[in-house]
Amino acid sequence: METKPSKKAVIILSGGLDSTTCMGIAQAEGYELYPITFDYGQRHKVELENARQVAEHYGVSARHKVISLGFLKEFGGSALTDESLEIPDMTKPKEQGEEESEVPITYVPGRNLLFLSIATSYAEVTGAEAVYIGVNALDYSGYPDCRPEFIRKVEEVMALATRVGVEGVPMRIETPLSEWTKAEIIREGMRLNVPYHLTTSCYNGEKEACGVCDSCRLRLKGFAEAGEKDPIPYR
Ligand SMILES: [Zn+2]
Repeated sequence: METKPSKKAVIILSGGLDSTTCMGIAQAEGYELYPITFDYGQRHKVELENARQVAEHYGVSARHKVISLGFLKEFGGSALTDESLEIPDMTKPKEQGEEESEVPITYVPGRNLLFLSIATSYAEVTGAEAVYIGVNALDYSGYPDCRPEFIRKVEEVMALATRVGVEGVPMRIETPLSEWTKAEIIREGMRLNVPYHLTTSCYNGEKEACGVCDSCRLRLKGFAEAGEKDPIPYR
């Protein structure tokens, strides 16, 4: 009996809402899932356990890689990795004279460039034809490494850097959430039975989400606009 050759995709899985939705979308597209999670000393470390549970939910724990990038914490320079920097409470009005930068303090220097490079390596070894990353150009317009032009350039570099690229079958980077609002992401995820109860989005990384950081607020607003109830606990 002939078996259909399976198509494979590497999914950059943080354990958050967006990347978990990517798992559901890639599965619906018929891909075998190869999740990869990065431990970069993020203060929301609870994410790593979420990612493990999501991989288990999809029955792909054996293919789930958790990669340590501890040096990102050593470098610091982001409120997500440096505990001396505070996560902004978005419910409070900005204090007078507070620095207004276009790039949020939660931006992690070079993060997606590193993530995509390492995911490229995993994809080439496993024979995956696509790498999914849950970047979003609307909600995170301040993050330079979430922009579509960045993604397309990395895709070009992937073709130049890999054997599969040289042999004429370059990998693709799939960014299905790029142009969607949070509500649209959640609606599609609910349709695909994405296990949102296993995800977390809070930047503060406590057991219960804070409800006031930028990420929590986007998530709560998204569920409200989608007319759905967020299944995770808030403090
Ligand atoms: Zn939060």
